[in-house]
Amino acid sequence: MSDEVILITGGGRGIGAATALLAAERGYRVCVNYRTDEAAAAGVVERIEAAGGSALAVRADVSRSTEVERLFRTVDEEFGPLTALVNNAGTLEKQGRLDELDEDRLARIWAANITGPFLCAGAAVRRMSTRYGGRGGAIVNVSSAASRLGSPNEYVDYAASKGALDSMTTGLALEVAAEGIRVNAVRPGLIHTDIHALGGEPARVDRVGPLLPMGRGGRPEEVAEGILYLLSPGASYVTGAFLDLAGGR
Ligand code: NAP
Repeated sequence: MSDEVILITGGGRGIGAATALLAAERGYRVCVNYRTDEAAAAGVVERIEAAGGSALAVRADVSRSTEVERLFRTVDEEFGPLTALVNNAGTLEKQGRLDELDEDRLARIWAANITGPFLCAGAAVRRMSTRYGGRGGAIVNVSSAASRLGSPNEYVDYAASKGALDSMTTGLALEVAAEGIRVNAVRPGLIHTDIHALGGEPARVDRVGPLLPMGRGGRPEEVAEGILYLLSPGASYVTGAFLDLAGGR
């Protein structure tokens, strides 16, 4: 087994789970973070271990700094120095118009989709950066095609939170480019996961997929391939980049 150690936030389900399984196949020791669905995270760990890999599930709300610190300390203690972070955890809420959004909902979306990735990226940089005595590493942010499209009549708040994540990707990539850390983002389009149920339309991908240039929605495994590429040595000269995984959308 290699000495690559990866932390995937929201790694129990959807895109995060597919990324965890592929990372384990590629030889990473995998920390699967989750917030509520312990059984799903445990299932991913079981599948990785059954295939001879090494994995660990850790509960933490990524928008809470004390929980994030505990999460990263657990990885330090169990697996040693972190080499890769995937800021995947994210959420959205019921479809609607901007003029229907209230303060509490906005606070929840910003917390999960902006504060969470900021806190986790900071904790990762303090471990990976040569400035802190680290060996370097790579970070991938899971943004969305929504940051380009704005998600009108669905969730402009969600789209804007991914716009913030895009800005963070650019800024952090430049901040740590000379410190051994690469920072990139993927922007998935419509992917078959549970997230669409949160918007009130579980079958959204089936409805919109046929209208896309490639005529279908994407699979979590197709996003995982892009994430693992950006983390890999094959992407050693790639930083501050955005990989659109959206079937031409
Ligand atoms: P999903 O199946 O609903 O999974 C979301 C994951 O995020 C879950 O594992 C959940 O944990 C975790 N999570 C949410 N809030 C969290 C928090 N505060 N702290 C820790 N974990 C938290 O959704 P998905 O589609 O795979 O989404 C993964 C990422 O892809 C998100 O950032 C999403 O915005 C992005 N994305 C998805 C699509 C798409 O079409 N599916 C398109 C573009 C971008 P629990 O399991 O414990 O609840």
